[in-house]
Amino acid sequence: MSDPVKICPCHQKKVPLIATFKFIKKEFWCPHCGYTCGMFGYVRSVEASDEIMKIHDEYKEKAKDFLSGESNEWVYEHNKPQTK
Ligand SMILES: [Zn+2]
Repeated sequence: MSDPVKICPCHQKKVPLIATFKFIKKEFWCPHCGYTCGMFGYVRSVEASDEIMKIHDEYKEKAKDFLSGESNEWVYEHNKPQTK
């Protein structure tokens, strides 16, 4: 069995969090709403599936320039992380 995948806890849509060094002490980023959290932050986990890994890889590829700092442009599909 493979490791579970961290997904964003902010919305129903299953969006895998992308590991990044762009944000200080926030190693995980949601490309859908902008949620960030650290290694032990609040996340949901799902079993790794081809489908979720495909979404993860697509986002990672798309966000390459943003995450490497080459670009600061990123359009979030979802307005904002919901705060509770
Ligand atoms: Zn999110």
